[in-house]
Amino acid sequence: MTSSMALRPVLKFPDPRLKRVSEPISAVTDEIRALARDMLEVMYDEPGIGLAAPQVGESVRLIVLDTDWTEEDAARNPIVLVNPEIVEREGKITWTEGCLSVPDYQADVERANKVRVRGIDLDGKPVEHDAEGLRAVCFQHEIDHLDGILFIDRISRLKRSLYVKRRQKALRRGEDEDGGALPPADHTL
Ligand SMILES: [Zn+2]
Repeated sequence: MTSSMALRPVLKFPDPRLKRVSEPISAVTDEIRALARDMLEVMYDEPGIGLAAPQVGESVRLIVLDTDWTEEDAARNPIVLVNPEIVEREGKITWTEGCLSVPDYQADVERANKVRVRGIDLDGKPVEHDAEGLRAVCFQHEIDHLDGILFIDRISRLKRSLYVKRRQKALRRGEDEDGGALPPADHTL
């Protein structure tokens, strides 16, 4: 693991590293805190409202999110969670999701509307978050990344294959990663 001044690049589908199941973090070290700092920088720069460590090439169970933040309002209220785990789920919600690792695509995904998430903060203390709506969606989306699951793995096979074909065509044409036809999602997870 390295830390540098340059922003870490976000891995894009179909990078095989996005399919890996990430390892639990055994201790919150300075290295982990530096990785969290790097991830927050990338998330706010993109911008996105959540990021998981595998998206920057680190197969460890660490996520960051800030569902309150918008570009217009500079106030930042990030959540950083080590070894996050969903311990309770309630209700259903369908949200149009996008992902920094899935360029130029959005699709409706059904998830739990409320979740309780347990994990460890950067001081090594156990913490719990109750989340609802967008924040609950974001927790579920980021924790999926730790298990090698992308939101396009949770849509119909037909929709997924149409996206995969379009993405492969764009890659063959050598299109810039951000050069697709669709505007970025309002809330890119
Ligand atoms: Zn994502």
